[in-house]
Amino acid sequence: MDHFLYRNGVLHAEDVPVPEIATAVGTPFYVYSTATLTRHFRVFDEALSGMDHLICFAVKSNSNIAVLKTLAELGAGMDVVSGGEYLRAKAAGVPGDRIVFSGVGKTRDEMRLALTGGVRQFNVESEPEMHALSEVASELGVVVPITVRVNPDVDAKTHAKIATGKSENKFGIPISKARTVYAHAAALPGLEVIGIDVHIGSQLTDLEPFRQAYTKVAELTVQLRADGHDIRRLDLGGGLGIPYERSNVAPPLPLEYGQVIRETVGHLGCEIEIEPGRLVAGNAGLLVTSVIYNKQGEGRDFLIVDAAMNDLIRPAMYDAHHDIVPVIEAEAGADLHPVDIVGPVCETGDTFARQRQLTALGEGDLVAFRSAGAYGAVMASEYNTRPLIPEVLVNGDQFAVIRERPSFDEIINRDKIPEWL
Ligand SMILES: *Cc1c(COP(=O)(O)O)cnc(C)c1O
Repeated sequence: MDHFLYRNGVLHAEDVPVPEIATAVGTPFYVYSTATLTRHFRVFDEALSGMDHLICFAVKSNSNIAVLKTLAELGAGMDVVSGGEYLRAKAAGVPGDRIVFSGVGKTRDEMRLALTGGVRQFNVESEPEMHALSEVASELGVVVPITVRVNPDVDAKTHAKIATGKSENKFGIPISKARTVYAHAAALPGLEVIGIDVHIGSQLTDLEPFRQAYTKVAELTVQLRADGHDIRRLDLGGGLGIPYERSNVAPPLPLEYGQVIRETVGHLGCEIEIEPGRLVAGNAGLLVTSVIYNKQGEGRDFLIVDAAMNDLIRPAMYDAHHDIVPVIEAEAGADLHPVDIVGPVCETGDTFARQRQLTALGEGDLVAFRSAGAYGAVMASEYNTRPLIPEVLVNGDQFAVIRERPSFDEIINRDKIPEWL
């Protein structure tokens, strides 16, 4: 459920009419709903109730510091995968002891940054990283809590580009080698082994892969404890999917996911961390765009909108579906026509939807892409020298621009002409 509903035929973001925002900031733009972010965070929190837990929002899914602050004020921690994301979490006011540092290729500079600024734990992904972290921590005279990310070799049954838990993926260490790796970790100065980390992929629409992975983590917990490690925290990753297509069967609910956690690892007495991104932010955002032209092709009509693949890459990159709706609701019974919805970028891949059934729309009409709050703005680029689009946050009847559209001067002045030219 989200808070983007029609009222008197006009799409609203909470209590704000979407056309009002469009007039104030121009199109295209992203708009996020505080009430939806809050609701999704609380649903997870309730799903884990009764277990000692921390929900660490996956910053990579939506890293605007106003979004991070909204979640942090509800008690969220943050899962970051780069020094930049770490600094964003800090800028949003998140204390270091609520920031988890994940990622397959952390540099020594990034380690130093987090060890100096405070960090809850590092999720270590390889033996070389373990050695580097031990050295950096020792240089700084600190001891850093770590988990090791294990790769449980389960099939997440999701899009190949976002499956991370099979042995052929680059992530984590093979679970079969875990006991050896943990023994090495425990022997290194500067590290304190406190738990296990796993993250098998994104947009999972079936609970079975989670159950398999968490069952393996539970077995490993018992083995590692027998080996003398004080395993007291389990980071179970993110990955729960969302309904991108409202007409489809809905993915499992956080409550059901929480039940899987309870059943597989609940008896171990560990503190539980999860790292949801998409489920918290995905349906809390719209991308709003306006129609530039209606173009009639040969046997095919195109709706050319002012958003493009550089603003929202998911359809081009993952063949992702986004529900696309007119901001002014069509009259009941209005005729539907198949159109291809495309952006202005010079790439055939700049196609958001093919043969989508829509009512007639004309130049200047506003259109909203649903489920655009995660992996939208964060993956944007300035391809075709298109400025990054504004982000807006709504809260009840208020809205604020939380990232401005840069000017062309700002963009062009970042380039420098060498002396010899
Ligand atoms: C991407 C990622 C997440 C978040 O995944 P979602 O599908 O957005 O929930 C969590 N943890 C790690 C380590 C990730 O790489």
